[in-house]
Amino acid sequence: MHAMVLADAERCIGCRACEIACTLAHAATGEDPGRAAEAGAAFAPRLTVVRDGGLAVPVQCRQCEAAPCAAACPTGALYSDGRSVAVNTAACTGCKACLAACPVGAMDMLPLASLPGRKVAGKCDLCAGRPSGPACQAVCPAGALFLHDPQALGRLCAARRRRAALACAGAAP
Ligand code: SF4
Ligand code: SF4
Repeated sequence: MHAMVLADAERCIGCRACEIACTLAHAATGEDPGRAAEAGAAFAPRLTVVRDGGLAVPVQCRQCEAAPCAAACPTGALYSDGRSVAVNTAACTGCKACLAACPVGAMDMLPLASLPGRKVAGKCDLCAGRPSGPACQAVCPAGALFLHDPQALGRLCAARRRRAALACAGAAP
């Protein structure tokens, strides 16, 4: 089962620190993010804080098991790496079929550092290669982001089943 980062909408305060942390976590090796921004580098987070009325909540890839983006990709650039849905940027032609297919709007076209001017499919990669885990989760001041790996999802489901069973039995959780 794929892992995923999910937000608790009731905790999110809409500060967008997660967007900044995500962008910095994916800056090119050796790049000074501040200077890159001054030079016009794109602000390219892999999650987007959506605001609507009093609501603020980040939206990012759900790492679908049967990923519509991967099914729509004509070049096989999207695939499961066993933990998440990954992108082979070398195989991406930028056709945007994945953007049209994603049910949560989590796909984006992001700049490719190794090829200025070119954009390829980009998405949450769970901060693969970052030993301490998701940068967005680490920086969130409200504790609104959670990494749900298969074990965490199992615990979540078990806790909800227990609550449901107690509610059915008329007992306090
Ligand atoms: S850092 Fe946390 S509180 Fe701030 S916008 Fe992101 S999820 Fe919401
Ligand atoms: S887990 Fe990493 S790549 Fe995914 S949204 Fe958070 S910071 Fe961005």
